[in-house]
Amino acid sequence: MKCPKCDAKMTTVMYGSIYVERCVGCKGLWFDLLELDHMAAIEGSEAIDVGSDELGERFREVDDIDCPHCSSPMVKMVDVRQRHIWYESCPSCFGVFFDAGEFRDYKEKTVIGFFRDLFAKERL
Ligand SMILES: [Zn+2]
Ligand SMILES: [Zn+2]
Repeated sequence: MKCPKCDAKMTTVMYGSIYVERCVGCKGLWFDLLELDHMAAIEGSEAIDVGSDELGERFREVDDIDCPHCSSPMVKMVDVRQRHIWYESCPSCFGVFFDAGEFRDYKEKTVIGFFRDLFAKERL
């Protein structure tokens, strides 16, 4: 599989019993349907997200991409619980693409993100 953002090769990485694809170039991560939440539920799984935030920032700008699995144009999504996290989702096969650093961020939603949202509401 080729990376939809930078065209480099994507290699399979395993954590726990879940396999995901990681780009050797931009370190973006590809999750098939349901893999994302399964992976996020595993203790320590943020270790698969090896790219720096700077790298992720650079490739976040690339947002008109086609699904590396089924070639459908992907849709830009915002995480409802953490609105600073943008990612691309495929409307056909439901795979998702995260830029480097975004999975680490996504995983923190249950702790830091949750409390941040809570306090944000209280201030209103
Ligand atoms: Zn890439
Ligand atoms: Zn697809």
